[in-house]
Amino acid sequence: MAQPAPALLTTVAGSLPKPSWLARPQVLWAPWQLAGEQLAEGKRDAVLAALKMQEAAGIDIVSEGEQSRMHFVHGFLQGVEGVDFGRMKRIGIRADRYEADCPTVTGPVHRPRPVHSDEVRYARAHTTRKLKFTLPGPMTMVDTLADEHYRSREKLAFALAEALNAEALELAALGVDVIQFDEPAFNVYMDEVRDWGIAALERAAQGLRCATAVHICYGYGIKANIEWKKTLGGAWRQYEATFPLLAKSRIRQVSLECANSHVPIALIGLLEGKDVLVGAIDVATDAVETPEQVAATLREALQYVKPQHLYGCTNCGMAPMARPVAEAKLRALAAGAAIVRRELASGQLKG
Ligand code: ZN
Repeated sequence: MAQPAPALLTTVAGSLPKPSWLARPQVLWAPWQLAGEQLAEGKRDAVLAALKMQEAAGIDIVSEGEQSRMHFVHGFLQGVEGVDFGRMKRIGIRADRYEADCPTVTGPVHRPRPVHSDEVRYARAHTTRKLKFTLPGPMTMVDTLADEHYRSREKLAFALAEALNAEALELAALGVDVIQFDEPAFNVYMDEVRDWGIAALERAAQGLRCATAVHICYGYGIKANIEWKKTLGGAWRQYEATFPLLAKSRIRQVSLECANSHVPIALIGLLEGKDVLVGAIDVATDAVETPEQVAATLREALQYVKPQHLYGCTNCGMAPMARPVAEAKLRALAAGAAIVRRELASGQLKG
């Protein structure tokens, strides 16, 4: 008899905290604590620690924890021509939710050489588990740049999507199992998502033979985001506009925020046919979920998604968290998924 497809695997949204000897802990855009060859060596050591942390916790599909980049958008952009990091400009991002220092687009964007291939080779050589690698999505990149060249968010997005696609194809060829594009901006500019956001995302993922994913969330657990969430009311329905469009797209997996949020869980029913990576770990609080709390979130999701299509995940990246907290949360995630897998296997819970 054929083995049933594995049910309820676990994974992470992407980033993990960096060791304090590598970068200042618990801040975004944290400056490196090392330089030169020491920094290169430190990044590699941090990747080993990140992989080991996930493996020991029991996470099935691991990432290198984004240990080699200062920020999830600017990391890739540092390898893109036409983007000037010497001209940082403070701009409002995510519809002016907060300000950030962003590099300026001064000419046609072009990726002259691979950006992340060494990191992927290193991570691939040091874990036998399935490996996810995250890249920023085109719309979120546009939203984290000061553009003085294209003067059109759509045109810039498609130019970036081409650069991303070249990168993604090379990373997939190095043995990455899942390429995920991070698009928190999809929860902010719903009209643009419909008009060109999904098309730009598909351009970035074009021709990829590994699994493809998009992560859409309500942002890192930083103060500006926590304040913003308070303004969104009792039911967060942003996904309602986007999920039907994604269901029709060629992207295979959707990673979303769920734990402790006001996202009505029924909205994941709009993602029919997709793998759904349900955020069962809140990254905006240091309170560590119990395995039973994780299991409860996953059981709810099982009302709308088949077990083979459901993955336990974190709400968002864990980069700004304290390391021991992130570690404990990953253990809870794996233990919670294990509870529900046992229930499914024993027939106690119907998938
Ligand atoms: Zn996120």
